[in-house]
Amino acid sequence: MDIRNCTRCGKIYNYDGFKICPSCRREDEEDFLKVREYLYDNPGATLHEVHEGTGVDTNKIIEFLRQGRLEVADDSNLILECEICGVSIRTGRFCDKCASDMKREFSSAIKRPEKKPIQKEKERFRVIDRYEKKR
Ligand SMILES: [Zn+2]
Ligand SMILES: [Zn+2]
Repeated sequence: MDIRNCTRCGKIYNYDGFKICPSCRREDEEDFLKVREYLYDNPGATLHEVHEGTGVDTNKIIEFLRQGRLEVADDSNLILECEICGVSIRTGRFCDKCASDMKREFSSAIKRPEKKPIQKEKERFRVIDRYEKKR
């Protein structure tokens, strides 16, 4: 048995592969459902509107994007960057090119970073319902 402290609430829990405890995970899940429902009703809402409409923290909404559970709808208003080359991406952590590069050879040539200004107010989302049930 592996006992750890939840990295969010600090409570002790039985570690089962996740960095946060089951009750924080349940909270995340409820927040995600709120966001998803809001976006069904308000497709193309901005980050700020989603936050206002659901009460879910903007950082958490961005986390859902990082996890690939939500996707930015409009190509011109991307808020995420590929963690390798810095190019703007719609969802997840890496651009398609880096993801396939990593698959081919992890240490292959890395593209020069190409930073773009982050536009805070105009990002638009749509829901992608591809939260895989891995467990
Ligand atoms: Zn917790
Ligand atoms: Zn990339």
